[in-house]
Amino acid sequence: MNLHEYQGKELLKSFGVKIQEGIVANTAEEAVAAAKTIKEKYNSDWCVVKAQIHAGGRGKGGGVKLAKSPEQAGELAGQIIGMMLKTPQTPPEGKLVSKVLIAQDVYYPGASETKEFYISILTDRGRGGNVIIYSPDGGMDIEKVAEETPERVFTESVDPLLGLRPFQAQKVAFNLGLTGQAFKEMTKFVMSLYAAYVGSDATLFEINPCLKTSDDQIIAVDSKVALDDNALFRHPNLEAQRDTSEEDPTDVEARTFDLNYVKLDGNVGCMVNGAGLAMSTMDLIKLSGGEPANFLDVGGTADAERVENAMRIILKDKNVKAILINIFGGIVRCDRVAQGVVDAYKSIGDIPVPVIVRLQGTNADIAKKIIDDSGLEVMGAVEFQEAADLVAKVLA
Ligand code: GDP
Ligand code: MN
Repeated sequence: MNLHEYQGKELLKSFGVKIQEGIVANTAEEAVAAAKTIKEKYNSDWCVVKAQIHAGGRGKGGGVKLAKSPEQAGELAGQIIGMMLKTPQTPPEGKLVSKVLIAQDVYYPGASETKEFYISILTDRGRGGNVIIYSPDGGMDIEKVAEETPERVFTESVDPLLGLRPFQAQKVAFNLGLTGQAFKEMTKFVMSLYAAYVGSDATLFEINPCLKTSDDQIIAVDSKVALDDNALFRHPNLEAQRDTSEEDPTDVEARTFDLNYVKLDGNVGCMVNGAGLAMSTMDLIKLSGGEPANFLDVGGTADAERVENAMRIILKDKNVKAILINIFGGIVRCDRVAQGVVDAYKSIGDIPVPVIVRLQGTNADIAKKIIDDSGLEVMGAVEFQEAADLVAKVLA
């Protein structure tokens, strides 16, 4: 699950990470009011109007604008709210902006230079731990830095059992070229950022830019936060912040049915119980010359209703040319799954693609009878290979 910038910043703040403060506005009027509050609080006429969408590169696409007064913030918010914002990370048609963040201007003049850094934390399965990736050349062109001067991108591995140790945070501050107060601030920033990462069960934090202000504070100006869906039950307050309007409608629907669904690009839809069997079924589809259109684990309690819902979700994908249902009946009874398939046919009406069903295990014989007696044109398979051959046949 991804958070908006403003939500990510609130999360960071709750762990003691310094952020560029701001107020969310849904309309131009709210933006003016927010900018006035910001003006009083930070004693500056300037503020930044930032489109809130689940995509980066907003600055380049015209979704981040500096305002010189609360009135101008209102005007800019009026232009940005309702626009289809196109950035290198959005679909070609862009993403609809429905809110903006009115943020304090943190690029104010002062005793020393402002500097933009890049800091991210992510879970690296290869290393079996978390890594902090950072660069002294943060800002809007970080992709170019990674490509052209990769030596300017540093990595710090963190042992998940030991956690981030203070000397590691100091190393980050050192490599970023900081000294004095800014060095101390950065060390604290990195320590609390890591605590926030672990404490929220995140899978990705990206702070770009992380800014050294002209008075040597270190603050998060932007935040990209991805949380581990499997750990959300521990964070109901974070889960409540999910913005389903930013997500794929099929994913949202699958979640309401408690189905474990991941859309892929192939042409064979599959419905399986158990993640392991689902993965081997995807392998099977590939071996038979097809490409899986999805991963779908209907879980251990696959009953008729779940099967029907799963079928509907698979069929939303217009690339699907065939469906393979591969169920092993352990706790799940095959006859119930078979009934689900029959019910799905009845209520969906016309299922426009061939369906291959392999039901094995508890009550497989009753299941076969249900399918056979239904008079439906469903292809039954008993062996794994048989199912693969049928997939190859219908795709040919
Ligand atoms: P992104 O383009 O989606 O990554 O959005 P960011 O939140 O990173 O903002 C883009 C750029 O806007 C930053 O790299 C900054 O250069 C600029 N920016 C953000 N906040 C401020 C601010 O308070 N003052 C000024 N002058 N520029 C800002
Ligand atoms: Mn950014």
